[in-house]
Amino acid sequence: MTQQTNKVALVTGASRGIGAAIAERLAADGFTVVVNYAGSQAAAEALVRKIEDKGGKAIAARADIADPAAVARLFDTAEAAFGSVDVLVNNAGIMALSPVGDTDDENFDRQVSINLKGSFNTLREAARRMRDGGRIINLSSSVVGLLQPGYGVYAATKAAIEALTSVMAKEMRGRHITVNAVAPGPVGTELFLNGKPQELVERIAKAAPLERLGEPDDIAATVAFLAGPDGAWINGQTLRSNGGII
Ligand code: NDP
Repeated sequence: MTQQTNKVALVTGASRGIGAAIAERLAADGFTVVVNYAGSQAAAEALVRKIEDKGGKAIAARADIADPAAVARLFDTAEAAFGSVDVLVNNAGIMALSPVGDTDDENFDRQVSINLKGSFNTLREAARRMRDGGRIINLSSSVVGLLQPGYGVYAATKAAIEALTSVMAKEMRGRHITVNAVAPGPVGTELFLNGKPQELVERIAKAAPLERLGEPDDIAATVAFLAGPDGAWINGQTLRSNGGII
């Protein structure tokens, strides 16, 4: 049985990868969780069952975060089910690596529409509808510091997220809502592993002084810290959770 907080956490892109680990961890910490997904309905529903089996409370809610109307409906769903939202975790994202000269419009538009506009869509709803005293946690990436070739558009969307994070923290003055970003280093999910030869994965894994890839649970622990009582005084910051890669 989990400890109950009566607080509601909405996690975007929680059907798999880092988002699923965040949803599971927040549920274990006593949050009621809205498990957002885009296409992976079965995985999202399986996660909800897993949370419920452990005594937690959760629902799955489909919404393409790039669509402002779908995001408004996502908040409607959360409010109808649980009253309001106390914690927003903007986790959903995609990565499509390509040198700038080889990047077509479709690649650019997709990464911007999901990573940047998608996070903007949920942040706008949160600004209008979130309960006072809440927490917002945006997923950036340590590529904003590493700035390797091929990561241009992806890193640009994440740099924009870090800027939005600090601006919005100031805009929430008077409402006791903190806004922070977590910037993981490489984590062994589909987003990172997809298309990388094993040799490259191993080389990247050794790049951090702690000499391994991050686990989704490493990132979930960082998010849980910012969402929980111990993170109360952190505001407007980007916290790199990456084993020291940068
Ligand atoms: P995954 O590809 O493993 O999972 C992505 C999740 O996002 C899925 O649940 C997917 O849902 C969801 N999603 C994708 N597009 C949308 C959309 N338009 N609307 C709603 N949900 C969507 O990625 P990770 O877990 O690796 O990444 C999570 C976050 O962490 C991302 O923001 C990523 O940029 C960031 N990050 C990841 C790192 C890594 O090395 N893995 C490093 C640094 C940052 P569905 O299954 O339904 O498609």
